[in-house]
Order: sequence, then structure tokens, then C-alpha cells
Amino acid sequence: MTSVTELNPRERLLMGPGPSTVPQRVLRAMSAPTLGHLDPQYIEYMDETCQMLRDVFQTSNPLTFPVSGTGMAGMETVIVNLVEPGDEVIVCINGVFGGRMKDNLERSGATVHVVETAWGETFTEEEIEEALKQFPKAKMLGIVHAETSTGALQELSGISDLVHRAGMLLAVDTVTSLGGHPVRVDDWKIDAVYSGTQKCLSCPPGLSPVSFSPLAIEKMEQRKTKVKSWYLDVSMLKNYYTGSGGRAYHHTAPINMVYGLREALRVVLEEGLEARFERHRQMHHLLRSGLEELGLCYIPKHSLHTLNCVAIPEGIDEAAIRSRLLNDFDIEIGGGLGVFAGKAWRIGLMGHSATPRNVETLLAALRECLGK
Ligand SMILES: *Cc1c(COP(=O)(O)O)cnc(C)c1O
Repeated sequence: MTSVTELNPRERLLMGPGPSTVPQRVLRAMSAPTLGHLDPQYIEYMDETCQMLRDVFQTSNPLTFPVSGTGMAGMETVIVNLVEPGDEVIVCINGVFGGRMKDNLERSGATVHVVETAWGETFTEEEIEEALKQFPKAKMLGIVHAETSTGALQELSGISDLVHRAGMLLAVDTVTSLGGHPVRVDDWKIDAVYSGTQKCLSCPPGLSPVSFSPLAIEKMEQRKTKVKSWYLDVSMLKNYYTGSGGRAYHHTAPINMVYGLREALRVVLEEGLEARFERHRQMHHLLRSGLEELGLCYIPKHSLHTLNCVAIPEGIDEAAIRSRLLNDFDIEIGGGLGVFAGKAWRIGLMGHSATPRNVETLLAALRECLGK
């Protein structure tokens, strides 16, 4: 037998695009005894988890649950269940994750109409309205609320009325906003939404909260073809998660991950959503003023509080600075992705990572690395 050393990872300050720092109480919750996935005790924990997800999504949608898998599994769940081969759909692309939506939609056999704007920009209501006019046969519009690759925050409140008036469904990626920025699923009339656990909910990666409106369910029930993915087929999953039609076995739920999410949601709701959004706003401004003092410039006009994307100054070896932050200071920040590779740093202030101590620590370390 080969001998393998004890697992003993160094503790890092997680200030990249996710995962974020996980509170000890969440890790402790995950080490509770594993139960059977049909054990009434566990079903109760799961129901509580789904109810807290409704609170965090600000929705009364009965069909709200954590998909087994990370954020990308949530994206696939929304798409494979709402799209049939030959359906026309519109996708708004201003970064990596809009691009991934397009890829997923194409894999589901949809005819995809792309509306694009520059990386770092967001879409105006006029641009959305224009797209809806141009592609009137589309059945759904997909858009990213918090584009983690550029740090841009997309305004959503005015969009859904336009989308619904055109007879389409609205699908939204809230992976980097849920728990850090308001996500008002009912007020904004979002039909299908997905998120992830390891960003602003500060839980380890492994689950993807999703929620579907009654209109989305109606659409799923009218499908003419079977959902292409067996694992992500909501018509089967909903029996287990909502109890409709009895708690039937579909796949074994990741029990201890759900313990973790349940505890992470308790942390979120104990703090209170509004207080939590306000903390993220304040930490963003604290970081922003420090970064700007160091001469760094934000790329997006409408910046997320949860992900801060700054341009790399001329003559700086960005990867060297990131490895120095990691190796000398145990701080992780992100590099640029896609179009921004080598051109940007992405600094996450998500959930448990968004504290004055972390902001000041990072700024001091960065000052040192930049020789200021
Ligand atoms: C992180 C992220 C995802 C993917 O989530 P994974 O947990 O990495 O699968 C999707 N969309 C956005 C906007 C993200 O930031």
C-alpha cells in the first residue's frame, strides 16, 4: 500500500470567484450522522431546507429544491426541463456564463438566438425589448443576473414584464447573487432560477438551489418529448422533493451536503436578508476605495458587490501577484476568465468572506505585492 499523508489543507482566505469561506458551524453540521434519504428525520431536514430556500429566493414557489450537483447542474436542470428540440430561445451573452447557457441550450436541441453586449456591460430594457421583437417565436429568454466573469450586475426588475408580454418564460442565473444581492423571484416574476451553494451562501460546493414558477411547471407538463437527462428530470425529482405523488426514490440525496446547506441557510436568515445585502454593499465600497487608492480601476460600470473585477495595471505580472498572495499570505483571488484572461483580477466578497478584516487584510497584502 502506498502511504498517503494526513489530509491537512492550509487555511486560506477565500476571496476569489468561489468557493467562499465556509463557517465552522456549517462544516460541523456536515459531520452529523448520515441518515437514510427516506428517513422521516431526514425528510424533515430536507423540507426545512427547501422552505429556507424559498425564503432566500423570496418566492412561494412550491417547486424549490437543491439539485444534486454544483451550479452548472442547476443551469442544466432549468434548460433540459424547459426546452424541447426545435424550440426557439433567446440568450443574453455578456460573459462566460451566458455563453455556457447557449452551449447548454444547443445541446438540448434548441434553436438559439444570441443577444450580445460587450464584456463588462449589461443589457438595457430597450435592448431586451428589441430582441423580443426580433425573435417573436422564442419560448424562453435566458439571462445572467451576476456575471462572475466580468463582475457586472444585470438589472432584472423591468425585464420580466417585457418577456411575459411576449409570451416567453424568463430563466435567470443567480449563482453569484443569491445571498449577496437581492434576488426577488416572485416580485421580478422569474420562471426558472438556479444558484450555487459555494458563493454567497458560504456552503461547500455540491448543491444547486433551483426554483420554478407555476407557469414553468405548466410548460413542463405540456412537454411532448421526454427530458433528455434522466438524472435532472424534474417530473421525477419533484415527487421526492415536494412530496407530490409520495416520496419516491429517484437518486440518493447527498444527505450531508443538505445538512451543510440547511445550516448555511440558517446563518443567512439569522443575519437577515436585508442586513446581509447591506453588509455586502458596505464591504464592496470599503474594498473599492482601497483598490482605487492603489490605482486599480473597476471594469464594469454596474459592479456586483459580491465580485469585484479590476483591470491589471500596465507592466504587472498578474499571475505572479496572485501566486504571491496565495503563497505568502494565504489569500486566494481570481484571475480573468475568457476575454479577460490575463487582463483582470476577480476579487470575491461573498457571504462569510465579506468582512472588514478580510478586506483590510487583502488590501495590505496587495499593497505589499504591488510595492506601494
Ligand atoms: C460559478 C458559476 C456557475 C457555475 O457554478 P459551478 O458551481 O461552478 O458549477 C454558473 N453561473 C455563474 C454566474 C457562476 O458564477
